[in-house]
Amino acid sequence: MCTFARDIQSTTDTQMANTELKELCTQVRRDIVRMVHAVNSGHPGGSLGCTEFFVALYGEMMEYDAANFTMDGINEDLFFLSNGHISPVYYSVLARNGFFAVDELNTFRKINSRLQGHPTTHEGLEGIRIASGSLGQGMSVAIGAAEAKKLNNDSHLVYSLHGDGELQEGQIWEAALYAAGKKIDNLICTIDANGQQIDGSTDDVLPMGDIGSKFAAFGWDVMTIEKGNDLDAVIAGLNEAKSRTGKGKPVCIVMKTEMGAGIDFMEGTHKWHGIAPNDEQLEAALAQLPSTLADY
Ligand SMILES: [Mg+2]
Repeated sequence: MCTFARDIQSTTDTQMANTELKELCTQVRRDIVRMVHAVNSGHPGGSLGCTEFFVALYGEMMEYDAANFTMDGINEDLFFLSNGHISPVYYSVLARNGFFAVDELNTFRKINSRLQGHPTTHEGLEGIRIASGSLGQGMSVAIGAAEAKKLNNDSHLVYSLHGDGELQEGQIWEAALYAAGKKIDNLICTIDANGQQIDGSTDDVLPMGDIGSKFAAFGWDVMTIEKGNDLDAVIAGLNEAKSRTGKGKPVCIVMKTEMGAGIDFMEGTHKWHGIAPNDEQLEAALAQLPSTLADY
């Protein structure tokens, strides 16, 4: 069970804890590039860009019981990944937080693996509560789960993550309208605002304009994390978002990240959205990411 131990820690302890989480970020990045390289398939760019978010969420923010996973997740915080193609970071962080054995990362995208390219539920992988793949659906699911928690008098929160390119899906805005209209205020939806999508920059494919203003116009409480690849900033931002829950509005975080963050030749371009590194590129990537925990 991850508890909210941070509240009672001193500043020094907090800095030490964040050092451990930063080391975990490095290891997660190693996992991501090794996983996609091993099968020459997968989505490293967005995974690398959202590493701090996942490590902060599962290492610091959420209350959950990894050893006794249930689909209902009653009396636990829940997370739904809507842009499911960034499954490498999700699987790595779930494994490294005790949901399943780290060794199982070896099976990523292989036939009959529980770690499919897009998360699915029928393989029974602990930590996964929805299938994803078709973009735009995760917000609707998160809203339903948040409403269920209210009906069950369960005060825990529901978190979700969405790509900025994913916001081009119409279902997102139907969900956004509903969440504000129904005052779903136990919900924190984060937008990975990296300005990139698979075919190019969001500005080139379909400009998103001011994402925060759009959600605000729908009636959401909107905030920004300017440095989405700075672990301390992400933790502070998520804590700020949590403090805004329970006040009659769903909370939207516009989180600015760099696609490919942490590996210099993958940063700032859409080209590594869905491409695996070759042998030489893997070697160059790992040289920038010292092993902090054991590789799987
Ligand atoms: Mg994007």
